[in-house]
Amino acid sequence: MYSNLILLGSTGSIGTQSLDVARKHNINVVALSAHKNVKLLEEQILEFKPEYICITDNECANNFENRAKELGVVLFKGSEGAQKLAQLDGYNNIVVLNAIVGIAGLKATLAAIESGKDVALANKESLVTGGKLVMDAVKKHNVKLLPVDSEHSAIFQCLQDKNSAPSLKKILLTASGGPFFGYSTEQLQTVTKAQALKHPNWSMGSKITIDSATLMNKGLELIEAVWLFDVKPEDVQIVVHRQSIIHSMVQYADNSVIAQLGSPDMRIPIQYSLTYPERMECNATEVDFFTVKDFTFAPADVDTFLCLKAAKTAIAKGGLYPCAVNGANERAVELFLQDKISFLDIGKAVYGVISHLDCKEDYTLEDVITTDRLAREYVDSLFGIK
Ligand code: NDP
Ligand code: MG
Repeated sequence: MYSNLILLGSTGSIGTQSLDVARKHNINVVALSAHKNVKLLEEQILEFKPEYICITDNECANNFENRAKELGVVLFKGSEGAQKLAQLDGYNNIVVLNAIVGIAGLKATLAAIESGKDVALANKESLVTGGKLVMDAVKKHNVKLLPVDSEHSAIFQCLQDKNSAPSLKKILLTASGGPFFGYSTEQLQTVTKAQALKHPNWSMGSKITIDSATLMNKGLELIEAVWLFDVKPEDVQIVVHRQSIIHSMVQYADNSVIAQLGSPDMRIPIQYSLTYPERMECNATEVDFFTVKDFTFAPADVDTFLCLKAAKTAIAKGGLYPCAVNGANERAVELFLQDKISFLDIGKAVYGVISHLDCKEDYTLEDVITTDRLAREYVDSLFGIK
């Protein structure tokens, strides 16, 4: 179990639940980062008394400068500030939990790994956009990359038997199917933002909630699994399981399947990443199987949910294609949340970027940033946004 925590994105859905876990197990909170939600950050400072904070939005950071002094906390600013937080030294047994949303989390993930720290990763976009860079850095600096995403935590837990792990045959990545499971393209034409923001089983930040409705989230998770567990995309099968009790499964050479189950509560995977390899009491409720009653399984509809088709195509093509679909998705989701494009437009943009951009196989961090920018520009031009 880790005794010190640097928490990036502390004001978000994963961030606040991570602080629940830190509170329960008395993990020392060394540093916190937020983007704009300074009010909540201040409450967190008063409770957890970190030595360092970062506010990544520069204007909000400047406005908070005096208050930070009064609170006796060192303030870093901007995205470089988040990287500095990730690189703080002088603490033993420390982990960086990255719960920033989007590609904005990538540099901080790399910074943490390069400073020799273990990383608990919620920010799946780090692996989707710069998977090769992240995994190369993990190997080079010999650090642990612990999944926070519930499916990947489940897979990680199912792979703990070191004797069986080498004979892994395939991963069964479960998906809730989101609020529009079973919808046809015609039905999706009229869905609203409010409907898309209503997830049947999980309460999450707005971006990942839309990703769950478009099935982009499952596409991002497929790419995340390929990098984390060093498997081929075709060895990851997506299984829609509406109840969100089985969080994923692995199948071994003998066709034996091991699953991890639990209530749909992110505190379980968050806590496992912080207490690993130990297991401890958790505030999440236990599953009542007699209430759940039915477990259902279905294939994902790749033809209707174009985002998932795009993610599958992108990881099969490799190189920077996953980064391109991620960038297009981030921009399209932003536009959808601003009521500038429709739900189906998200899929059009994400699938369209693949044939629009010619992506490199081998890449540097600068290439990732450039591809992300070009993908966003493509989306803006597609919808005539200035
Ligand atoms: P939220 O939107 O709830 O929170 C995002 C956090 O990141 C907030 O602290 C926010 O600060 C901060 N942030 C926003 N923009 C920036 C930026 N440009 N630079 C730095 N920090 C920024 O997201 P979630 O907690 O839902 O998701 C976080 C990550 O975890 C995502 O990658 C998501 O895919 C992943 N994840 C989430 C799950 C969930 O249940 N929520 C499940 C599995 C994975 P502020 O509040 O101040 O704006
Ligand atoms: Mg997930």
